[in-house]
Amino acid sequence: MANLELRQVKKRFGAVEVIHGIDLKIDDGEFVVFVGPSGCGKSTLLRMIAGLESISDGDVLIDGEEMNEMPAAKRELAMVFQSYALYPHMSVRKNLSFGLETMKVSKDEIKKHVQQAADILQINELLDRKPGQLSGGQRQRVAIGRAIVREPKIFLFDEPLSNLDAELRMQMRVEINKLHRRLKSTMIFVTHDQVEAMTLADRIVVLRKGVIEQVGTPLDLYNNPQNIFVAGFIGSPR
Ligand code: ADP
Ligand code: MG
Repeated sequence: MANLELRQVKKRFGAVEVIHGIDLKIDDGEFVVFVGPSGCGKSTLLRMIAGLESISDGDVLIDGEEMNEMPAAKRELAMVFQSYALYPHMSVRKNLSFGLETMKVSKDEIKKHVQQAADILQINELLDRKPGQLSGGQRQRVAIGRAIVREPKIFLFDEPLSNLDAELRMQMRVEINKLHRRLKSTMIFVTHDQVEAMTLADRIVVLRKGVIEQVGTPLDLYNNPQNIFVAGFIGSPR
C-alpha cells in the first residue's frame, strides 16, 4: 500500500501541452478510476506516475517521496496494459517469474510468489502453456499475475479489459474487485467505460482535455455532476 500525490503535474509533447496542471491525492489502499474520452490524457498521466514518461512540470510523490527522477523499476508499482504484452515464447510460469529473476530474487521466493499469484487468479492449470494457447481472458489474468508477483505498492491498470468481450469484462471486473479487497493495494484503473468506473471505483476522476473536471465517489458524481460534461459521461444528463 502507498499513497500518491500529484502536484501541478504537466506534460508537453514538443510545444503541445496535453496535461495542464493536475492536482490529486490518492489514499493508501484506495481504488481510483480515471475516466474520460479517448485522447484526454489518461494513459499519459498513468505513464508519468509509472515513470515511463517524463514529467514536464510539477511533482509526483509516493508516500511523500518525490519520484520525478526515480526510474520506473524502482517505483514499487506495476502496470497492466490493454494489450497483454506477454512473452510469446515463454510458458505462463516463466512469464510470471521472469521479472523477479532479473531482480535477483531467490528461487524459493520466486516459486512462492508465482504460486500465490496463480492461486489468486486461478491459473494453476495454465502454468505450462504458452500465451498462444490461452484465451483473451486467460492472457489478461496472466498479465495481472505478472503484476502481482512483484508485490507492488501501487497497481496501475490502463484499460486492461478493453479487448475482452462483454461477458468476460464483467467477470474480470468482479475478479479485479476481489483482488483489490484481498491485496488492499492502492489501485488506479483507467477506462473509458462508465459502467466499469461506477462499479469499481472508491473515487472517480473525470478527465477532459488534460484537466480534471470532477473528482468524487460514484454516488457523488451521479447525484451531483458539476457540469454537463460530467453528467453526460456518468449517464445522468440534466
Ligand atoms: P488517452 O489515454 O486518454 O486516450 P493519451 O494520454 O494517450 O490519451 O493522449 C493524450 C494526448 O497526448 C493526445 O492528444 C495524444 O495525441 C497525445 N500524445 C500521447 N502520446 C504522445 C506522444 N508520444 N507524442 C506526442 N503526442 C502524444
Ligand atoms: Mg489511453
